[in-house]
Amino acid sequence: MTHAPARTLARRAAGLGTTVFSDLTELAVRTGAINLGQGSPEADGPPAVLEAARRALFNGANQYPPLNGTPALRRALAQQRLRRYGVPCDEDTGIVVTTGATEAVTAAVLGLCDPGDEIIVFDPAYDVYTAAARLAGAGCRRVPLLPGGDGFRYDPDALRAAVTRSTRLLLLNTPHNPTGKVFTRGELADIAAVCQEYDLVAVVDEVYEYLVYGDRYHLPLTAVDGMADRTLCVSSAGKTLNLTGWKVGWACGPAHLVDAVRAVKQYTTFASAAPLQDAVAWGLTHQDAWVAAQRSALAANRDALSAGLRTAGLAVLPAEGGYFLQADAARAGHADASEYCRRLAHECGVVAIPTRVFAEDPSPYASLVRFAFCKSPRTISQAVGRLARSGSARPRG
Ligand code: PMP
Ligand code: GLN
Repeated sequence: MTHAPARTLARRAAGLGTTVFSDLTELAVRTGAINLGQGSPEADGPPAVLEAARRALFNGANQYPPLNGTPALRRALAQQRLRRYGVPCDEDTGIVVTTGATEAVTAAVLGLCDPGDEIIVFDPAYDVYTAAARLAGAGCRRVPLLPGGDGFRYDPDALRAAVTRSTRLLLLNTPHNPTGKVFTRGELADIAAVCQEYDLVAVVDEVYEYLVYGDRYHLPLTAVDGMADRTLCVSSAGKTLNLTGWKVGWACGPAHLVDAVRAVKQYTTFASAAPLQDAVAWGLTHQDAWVAAQRSALAANRDALSAGLRTAGLAVLPAEGGYFLQADAARAGHADASEYCRRLAHECGVVAIPTRVFAEDPSPYASLVRFAFCKSPRTISQAVGRLARSGSARPRG
């Protein structure tokens, strides 16, 4: 007979639970529902990038790469940032390649925050940020982005009110998951002013940097006046190249911030998949046209899903970038999005996520639902068909 130890989970890990994405993906698999919950694309990455990975695998790129990342990927990233944003980046001291943006964010928070420090995030927030703060023993203050007819509103006074003597860093995500908001130049200028006034470090999660629709565009916070020395930019190949399973990410910025990520990363994974890094380097350099086509396909999916949701009686908020749109189920008579999502999964065969799970104070988001549109047009059209046929999506009474 064996006995499990009396104490297992450390206090800092207790309460982290299972991510909502695993839970809902499991529900979709179990019930055969269409999974518009997890932001996981159905289509493969560009064939030429897969071929580049094959070449790298068979050309011997199979041992530990340098801790900072392969020279090819660091060079490609430095060139990409200069070409796309006019932002210089030192390929020797200003980049560290990570196992996805997830590792970059978590290592940044662990490397920059002491227990008792605070970070600020915008609510609703991607779950990794609050989990990273918890692992670091740091407090997390959430500044709500409030939903309205023209999208999610940034409130400069609420941001200033969240700063305390313990605030160490601001974690910004633009384009934003789960709202689809792309922060404007004016909003970024204001956020930059707050960071400089209170001496905060900005960590910016830009994983959807290429996926901005219509006439909106992505502006890196680091390009705003006065921010280059206090901004760490995080991104990954997952969304840009439809390769979420490769988990090739990076952090770029001034050496004093990249050093903090590297200090932690060297003891979490040390290095990340060598052949995939070289393939991503090739993709970032040669696949702009593929990414542009992918962006158009995503915008078309977003529009088709939005139209279907409107027909089913929901109100749809503008989604300017990323993989997700927000729909308001109150319009269809469902004030509680959690209950609505349960019915949607069981009666209609579509899994989506109640936005409230991303928020500390769920009240502004009680009837909002996050739908992922990074799926095939066929899946989107099937989901729209199910939504249209489902009584659960129509107003009651
Ligand atoms: N940040 C945001 C905002 C995300 O939506 C995701 C989801 N993929 C990630 C980070 C994770 O990126 P990666 O898979 O590269 O770790
Ligand atoms: N980023 C994806 C989302 O928001 C999921 C990532 C994950 O499954 N951990 O849906």
